[in-house]
Amino acid sequence: MSEKILVVAETKDGELRNVSFEAIAAARKINAGGEIVGVICAAEDANDLAQELIYYGADRVVTVQHDNLKSYTSEGFGQAILKVVDEESPDGIIMGHTSIGKDLSPKLASKLNTGLVSDAVDVELVGDQVVFTRPIYSGKAFEKKIITSGISFVTIRPNNISTLERDETRTGDVASIDVDVKDLRTVIKEVVRKTSEGVDLSEAKVVIAGGRGVKSADGFKPLYELAEVLGGAVGASRGACDADYCDYSLQIGQTGKVVTPDLYIAVGISGAIQHLAGMSNSKVIVAINKDADSNIFNVADYGIVGDLFEVIPMLIEEFKKV
Ligand code: FAD
Repeated sequence: MSEKILVVAETKDGELRNVSFEAIAAARKINAGGEIVGVICAAEDANDLAQELIYYGADRVVTVQHDNLKSYTSEGFGQAILKVVDEESPDGIIMGHTSIGKDLSPKLASKLNTGLVSDAVDVELVGDQVVFTRPIYSGKAFEKKIITSGISFVTIRPNNISTLERDETRTGDVASIDVDVKDLRTVIKEVVRKTSEGVDLSEAKVVIAGGRGVKSADGFKPLYELAEVLGGAVGASRGACDADYCDYSLQIGQTGKVVTPDLYIAVGISGAIQHLAGMSNSKVIVAINKDADSNIFNVADYGIVGDLFEVIPMLIEEFKKV
């Protein structure tokens, strides 16, 4: 397929987000003999991050460094990436389907006058055509798409494509491009985080999600304990958020976050279609519900019919032994 693919890396708190490495792996799947160029926008020196992209499979990395790239704005990052695209003339662009990717990719696609396949869960080479798979109808079906002209621009859903093995023997050029990032109409003055510290929900390998069955904010405490034991993050149904048991930033589903962890434990969640839209692509789903007829059991790989207030402490105790 493509000769050259740009992978737009994403950082959080100065670290590369895992989806950046997944995007490199996606690029490699469809571009075995071609070149993969990582792109990092930052306010400070990004050489270490660039090296990390190379260890994970990028052939070389282009960094854009400017004070106005300290916090993400679509205008600032847009200017930087458009300049890189202009200089590199890539055949494809891949970035994460994160809140930044969702905001930035359509704006870039429009400026580049090209199409966009968003939220792909897989990319593959079929013959000489790149085929993108993406969920539709709230995850009830999948469609396969090909891009027939222009730049192949795609965002990939986090946690769906395995990263390549980190290889510290890999080497590659790191170059910096000067871009005068200016005339920003939006300036980020302060970032107020709503979610607690710990594992990022949208990239967590294990998610413990609580629903209205958890019954109170206090009822969520054992879920946090279980998440800590398993190294995971806590999420919630909208039912739990509406009832004020937790913050809306934890909501998973059609109008919340989409997660695809290795393990999803649904606790006291009935399995409404809008909730399933955000988690049904998880690799292994475990449901804990006292109602054996609950719809969540229709998507669960393993089900525990029982009272969550008895089951969760038992799980914590058992997992602590492992
Ligand atoms: P319930 O449906 O009330 O289920 C609670 C479950 O807990 C029940 O199955 C019950 O058996 C079980 N339970 C109770 N006590 C215990 C116990 N002690 N032990 C074990 N189990 C117990 N919802 C989302 O989640 N995400 C979305 O993004 C979303 N978007 C929406 C968008 C629209 C436009 C609309 C109309 C709705 C949306 N909803 C969304 C809401 C959705 O339809 C459901 O109302 C919601 O998911 C229900 O949350 P729940 O499963 O926690 O609550």
